[in-house]
Amino acid sequence: MGRYDIAVIGTGPAGLSAAITGTVRNKKVLLLGSKDLSLKVTKAHKIANYLGLPNAGGEELSAAFQKHIDEMGIEITEDKINAIYGMGDYYVLQGGENVMYEATSVILATGVVAGKPFPGEEENLGRGVSYCATCDAALYRGKNAVVIAYAPKEEPEADFLAEMADHVYYIPMYKEEPQLSEKIEIVRKKPVSMERDGSKMKLVTDDGEILTDGIFILREAISPKQLVPGLVTDGPHVAVDLQMKTNLPGCFACGDIAGTPYQYIKAAGQGNVAALSAVSYLDELKRRSK
Ligand SMILES: Cc1cc2nc3c(=O)[nH]c(=O)nc-3n(C[C@H](O)[C@H](O)[C@H](O)COP(=O)(O)OP(=O)(O)OC[C@H]3O[C@@H](n4cnc5c(N)ncnc54)[C@H](O)[C@@H]3O)c2cc1C
Repeated sequence: MGRYDIAVIGTGPAGLSAAITGTVRNKKVLLLGSKDLSLKVTKAHKIANYLGLPNAGGEELSAAFQKHIDEMGIEITEDKINAIYGMGDYYVLQGGENVMYEATSVILATGVVAGKPFPGEEENLGRGVSYCATCDAALYRGKNAVVIAYAPKEEPEADFLAEMADHVYYIPMYKEEPQLSEKIEIVRKKPVSMERDGSKMKLVTDDGEILTDGIFILREAISPKQLVPGLVTDGPHVAVDLQMKTNLPGCFACGDIAGTPYQYIKAAGQGNVAALSAVSYLDELKRRSK
């Protein structure tokens, strides 16, 4: 696979725009995310304020984005990134099934995480709370686990976990009826908080408690602080300057993750700025190494 110049995470307007600009500037770009593009684009009814496409529907805007990347030969690598580690002069990105990618610079375009973490979630991360069933399922062989899932696309993760674990409780945080393996018990309760209870985890719900070995929380986006250790945040957003630089050298952020207003055109514009900043960073590294 080799090392990429720029890894872009997220296939919303910010990530797509960053990938386009990085490609225009002849960089080796890896675009990671969902091939269905951002649901925040496809699901919108009517968009009145996107330049050049007055009153486009979400599907129309999404189709225009897809056509643009197709014409430029930009491919999406379908993967959800669970962690990004700085290694000095490059980054390692951990995808599902523990696939590792390497890139000299990283552009975070993962959108904003809806809602706050549950009380007890962040404190117990890696000690009974996980964001990735594919990565951690093997730890639950012969044990039981709870999955709190925010979208039907997480169901295969729960099925995979159920192949290892003795028992899986599945709490869908969405309206659709889950289509899961028969081994999985669907629980229609609202999670409230989580805490350690000896060697177990206790999930408190609006209707009682569940004692379990582990809790998997599968959201569309992971909070930026969890995604990139050491990243400075400002509330739910990544702190950036006007060049979309974060506090970490070679790491940039754009779109909703970089703050309000939450708008397509602002996301696309910031994607362009982030990619140009990444290009300057790569050029500077090259100059210094001569
Ligand atoms: C219903 C609705 C209507 C809207 N209408 C308008 C409007 O009319 N005009 C307007 O300007 N704005 C509108 N918005 C706001 C607009 O949708 C957002 O501002 C815009 O989509 C932000 O783009 P983004 O690229 O930053 O993030 P997003 O569009 O949220 O895209 C982020 C992408 O990153 C992916 N991702 C997240 N984490 C990871 C990970 N760890 N690994 C891989 N991929 C990941 C997500 O799955 C998603 O596909 C609307 C929003 C909604 C929800």
